[in-house]
Amino acid sequence: MNNCHWNILSCIFTTLMYLVKTPFWLRWLYPQLVWRRSIASKTIYITFDDGPIPEVTPFVLDTLAMYNAKATFFCIGDNVRKYPEIFERIKAEGHSVGNHTFNHLKGWATEDDLYLQNFRLCDDLINTHLFRPPYGRIKRSQIRKLKSEFPELDIIMWDVLSGDFDVNLSPEKCLRNVLSTTSDGSIVVFHDSLKAFERLRFVLPLALKYWKEQGFAISQL
Ligand SMILES: [Zn+2]
Repeated sequence: MNNCHWNILSCIFTTLMYLVKTPFWLRWLYPQLVWRRSIASKTIYITFDDGPIPEVTPFVLDTLAMYNAKATFFCIGDNVRKYPEIFERIKAEGHSVGNHTFNHLKGWATEDDLYLQNFRLCDDLINTHLFRPPYGRIKRSQIRKLKSEFPELDIIMWDVLSGDFDVNLSPEKCLRNVLSTTSDGSIVVFHDSLKAFERLRFVLPLALKYWKEQGFAISQL
């Protein structure tokens, strides 16, 4: 993609800040990334980015267990280094883990070599075929280099962004956004982070309860 396209995309992102529902044209521009799973099965794939941390991740694990739900945790390598016991608990309870770089680097602002090096640092700890670029921002050259070095890698984006990180969003509105945009095969982003916790602790139990009542399976990637 040339610079002009980058500028347009960057401009759109800056203007909108974020979109709850990923628009079709973004999926069309990046078909090599995973935006959602098959709509054929009544399954929702929930994901948690930026942990593990002791203040939030145990709450998430307890809540998931309560609803017999499995999820995918895109972990920051440095947090895994700091809290290995929480990372081990995630895996022991049957959830999937994904690479989210070692230091949560923004791909658009990072040289490719440094980006891949940071990916590898995290990979040494996590060893997974799942990767989510922090902020969802990754250059085409970085996608190409990652795929060439790690042919099995699935780069996972999302279909629904909960906005739980948005401190201006009420927990109730966050819940409405998530429930109204999620459907069969959706990949939903939450965050096990301090910033998101006020909304997450309200939204997660209610969303899981609602989806279970609707007959959805909640699965890991
Ligand atoms: Zn992140």
